[in-house]
Amino acid sequence: MEDDFAQWYTDVVKKADLVDYSSVRGSMIIRPYGYAIWENIQSILDRRIKETGHENVYMPLLIPQSLLQKEKDHIEGFAPEVALVTHGGSEELAEPLVVRPTSEVLFGEHYANIIHSYRDLPKLYNQWANVVRWEKTTRPFLRSLEFLWQEGHTCHATEEEAAEETRKMLEVYAEVVENYLAVPVLKGQKTEKEKFAGAKFTLTIESLMHDGKALQSGTSHHLGTGFAEAFGIQFTDKDGKLQTVNQTSWGITTRLIGALIMVHGDNRGLVVPPRIAPKQVMIVPIAQHKEGVLDKAYELKNRLNKVARVDIDASDKMPGWKFNEYEMKGIPVRLEVGPKDIEKGQVVLARRDTSEKIIVPMEELETKIPALLEEIQNNLFEKAKKHREEKTTVAYNMDEFKKNLEENPGFIKAMWCGSEACENFIKEETAATSRCIPFEQEHLSDKCVCCGGEAKHLVYWAKAY
Ligand SMILES: [Zn+2]
Repeated sequence: MEDDFAQWYTDVVKKADLVDYSSVRGSMIIRPYGYAIWENIQSILDRRIKETGHENVYMPLLIPQSLLQKEKDHIEGFAPEVALVTHGGSEELAEPLVVRPTSEVLFGEHYANIIHSYRDLPKLYNQWANVVRWEKTTRPFLRSLEFLWQEGHTCHATEEEAAEETRKMLEVYAEVVENYLAVPVLKGQKTEKEKFAGAKFTLTIESLMHDGKALQSGTSHHLGTGFAEAFGIQFTDKDGKLQTVNQTSWGITTRLIGALIMVHGDNRGLVVPPRIAPKQVMIVPIAQHKEGVLDKAYELKNRLNKVARVDIDASDKMPGWKFNEYEMKGIPVRLEVGPKDIEKGQVVLARRDTSEKIIVPMEELETKIPALLEEIQNNLFEKAKKHREEKTTVAYNMDEFKKNLEENPGFIKAMWCGSEACENFIKEETAATSRCIPFEQEHLSDKCVCCGGEAKHLVYWAKAY
């Protein structure tokens, strides 16, 4: 991974059985192990989405082209990535259909039909779906023609309520990504240049990968009344006056699996944080042909299934092969049990994160395993946080900016005047983009890192995926 991070990434997604390539360029098959990780992310987030009062719905895959064109900024933002259906069977369609790149316009049209009065508000909908974006360069999980995600779409009576919702859902994302994926995030606002096409403002969580590149890990948009005006989503308020709703939309995608790989992985493969791991403990029997070994291994599996997600590999492959395989797959704990262990009433636990081996009496496993899983979870988060801190630097001028990017690539904290010209200049000169204006502002200096003009905000910059 030190020599060729991109190749390392591609190897890991293949060898850990997360994906396979399909015959359509840039499309990926998510294999059972990869899909199980997604299902875990999905179930945790789905619970949070429902706890915060949202309902799941499902919108159609196809959008009339004219509908997508109703909101001007939106269509300008998405036009280059849109896939069009021009034929149905052998007949050319009178109007081409767009394969959804996102569903703002579908929700917009539907909301205009079902919202009439202040009593209909707020409307808090979420959809789990696939979307299609015709990307030129693709990489599994990070950028693919089709990906899975959830998109929340809400309508509110006031601008302030919508702003509150935008912030609330960003906090939900930050909590899930930090506490379950063990990936530390920066919370902040996107600049005008980087915000979602058609939004009033965009909030984001940004994380730093092992190679020092940033990954946008979740976004929440305040859409204001832009879409609502284009689609006529209006309601009669308590005084009988006609008003336009304020909207939000927010999403996370299968990209998060890419983040997981690139934050925690190492030269032996994937490392999956216990709380998100489909399998938390893998039992590998040693000398399993010897009498009593397999029986004991299965007995332990049945016992431990009550406290963790446990599996066993009782195949006739060599233990060494099994060790490598489950290290590649990043299973947090390996439990070895052989004839000598059985004699002594103990097992060996091997940690994936530190490679440490621990001998534990069998009768203590029900308490030791959950505690160990928690320790691994915390260790992964702390390690990732330390890595991010080591790769976060400060720049006061462009020479320092370039030097930092070259010598220690990662987040660069620098003051910015607020002009798009400076953002463009930095991007052209260094390929770094503004990741966010963090909620936690610091005053590093009075001057913009780029033009030397009066600084307005602290911005985190980085090269990004
Ligand atoms: Zn400037």
